Amino acid sequence: MELKRDSKGRFIKGQPSLRKEIKLSKEIKEKIKQTNIKKGIAPKNRFDKLTKDIKKKISKTVKLQYKNGRKLSLSCWKKGQRASPKTEFTSERMKSKNNPNWQGGITPINLQIKQSNNYKSWRKAIFERDNYTCVWCNQRGGKLNVDHIKPYNIIIKNNNIKTLKQAIKCKELWNINNGRTLCLNCHKKTDTYGEKAKYYFDLNLIGKKILITGASCGIGLAIKKCLENEGAKCISWSRSENYNLDCSALPIIPKIDILINNVGGRGTWNNWEAIDNINYKTMAMLTNNFLRNKRKWGRVITISSIYGKEKGPNPAFTASKAAQIAYMKSLAGKYKGITFNTICPGHINVDKPFPYKPKIVGKPKDVANIVTFLCSDLASHINGACITVDGGESHSF
Ligand SMILES: [Zn+2]
Repeated sequence: MELKRDSKGRFIKGQPSLRKEIKLSKEIKEKIKQTNIKKGIAPKNRFDKLTKDIKKKISKTVKLQYKNGRKLSLSCWKKGQRASPKTEFTSERMKSKNNPNWQGGITPINLQIKQSNNYKSWRKAIFERDNYTCVWCNQRGGKLNVDHIKPYNIIIKNNNIKTLKQAIKCKELWNINNGRTLCLNCHKKTDTYGEKAKYYFDLNLIGKKILITGASCGIGLAIKKCLENEGAKCISWSRSENYNLDCSALPIIPKIDILINNVGGRGTWNNWEAIDNINYKTMAMLTNNFLRNKRKWGRVITISSIYGKEKGPNPAFTASKAAQIAYMKSLAGKYKGITFNTICPGHINVDKPFPYKPKIVGKPKDVANIVTFLCSDLASHINGACITVDGGESHSF
């Protein structure tokens, strides 16, 4: 049925309403008859008319409803019935052992840990470190959670924790680097929220110190975000921020575990020297400094280009990118525990115009994913590799 409207589109008065009347079933109608309560406002003295037994059984709110004469719901009071289904559920016959979900009265270990003082202080330390702001969306205050980067239940399982004493001794559980402040919405979006934690891949990057050059935008920024997501501590180092090759970077190098040579530039035909400086020389100098300090474990990853493997539009650029690959390959296998790998991206969309229109374009995240994997322990046998990330664009083998 459609309602009629006037010329201005307004409803014409006096038409039947579209709302459907609530139809009561026969049973409810009979119940109402039995209880002798009419729909609407109950009389004020109704409470006094109840028998003593019923007065004891009904809850405080129901009592007030009776005393003040408020509107009664359709499910009416019946002699001998409990006040509401809620009171029935929490009553004695569903408590403790009588409850079908009874598990022996012992608090599970993951709850025991969460109730402990160690957990509370660990949580507080992370909130204070992040200044009570969500790491992803910068929301300050409100409902904030502490998210475990390596899932909490997996730590308990891997370390075989069964008592609270074992939990307190476990160092991994109280590592502040394993936590981050997230708001409720961002927490739900993580890869390890709730049931999704089952598919967690342990990259073992929590607390690792990483130096990335050219991480203020584009591929560098994507790599930085991706690694920080895995709990690594990244030091960004770019021309737009604080780039000063001779002074500021070198004191940091002894403290880092992973070096990512990402900075680079295409330049023009004429300034081959500048192209060589930014692409090859910077990488060689940082890598040499990185190797000067003895390490048991380390990763060096250089972001080259597909034009380091085949001919490209600019000879100087191709030459310097090829030098990067050659440098990494030559170092591979010479240092125990340290791997040297190169990534050769194709055309990546970094919000800068291309000199010509490429056929296939990738995202910065595509490069960041493989870099994150190469940084991890899972890639410890990949050394001296040159991996193309170009969607099938290049021609070389
Ligand atoms: Zn957030």
